[in-house]
Amino acid sequence: DLNTRVTRGSMDEIGTLAAAINDLAVELHRYRSNRREFLANISHELQTPITYLEGYTSALRNRLYETEEEKEQYLQIIQLEAQRMSKLVSDLFELSKMEDGKVALVFEEVNLVEVIENALLKTKIKAQAKGLHLEFNQTYDFPGINADGLRMEQIITNLLENAIRYTENGFIKIKLSTDLGVARAVIEDTGIGIPQEDIPFLFERFYRVEKSRSREFGGTGLGLAIVKQLVELQGGTITVESQIGKGTCFELTFPITRRESP
Ligand code: ADP
Repeated sequence: DLNTRVTRGSMDEIGTLAAAINDLAVELHRYRSNRREFLANISHELQTPITYLEGYTSALRNRLYETEEEKEQYLQIIQLEAQRMSKLVSDLFELSKMEDGKVALVFEEVNLVEVIENALLKTKIKAQAKGLHLEFNQTYDFPGINADGLRMEQIITNLLENAIRYTENGFIKIKLSTDLGVARAVIEDTGIGIPQEDIPFLFERFYRVEKSRSREFGGTGLGLAIVKQLVELQGGTITVESQIGKGTCFELTFPITRRESP
């Protein structure tokens, strides 16, 4: 029973042991309630698309549509929800592998300018579709970092996709700079912003500021948890600043590769 506590009656070895057992009990309790919450979240996240799948499949079977367009719409919803489930499952799998330390990163000298340009290429169409301007002015002359190039691209792409998803007007800017052996990348948007009270929880699994809005845009609530893990696995940091209605700014830092002098 986790509510049972060993009474610490003395400061000798037995007393110290009692204190250690109590600490372990607290830790175990925290672990179990985290796990419970996590499982509850997963069930909830899967339940929503399943409800759609069931509803629209039976609507089709019972021919509850009046026009061909309507039928096509139902089919589209089914496809979208199946894709969402698939994304959720693959994100979960990736996150669990990372947490078990089972993600093999391939470290090499990485050029952040190249990484950012690749990520911009992938997200440009989504930005254009919303009339958002993507800005990045940097020449190739930027110090290298020791990282996994593809994982870096995944991080930047994810942050860019979020910026596009949560911005209606204006621009998204990426800036690179260096500071005391550190390379810094800043991704800034003029979007809806994030309330101050949500910021401490932003990188937690399944945390969303506005559930319905995130769902509407195809989010799983796992993106930033994955990003943070990947950043930290590569020795970097990630922080965020935001103002409601003004925009959000994610900042990444990574140690610059030291070059041996010839
Ligand atoms: P999601 O899949 O819901 O986008 P993420 O883990 O990527 O999940 O992000 C968590 C939450 O953080 C989002 O639901 C959203 O509320 C908020 N968020 C992330 N990036 C931004 C941004 N650039 N502007 C405003 N809100 C953001």
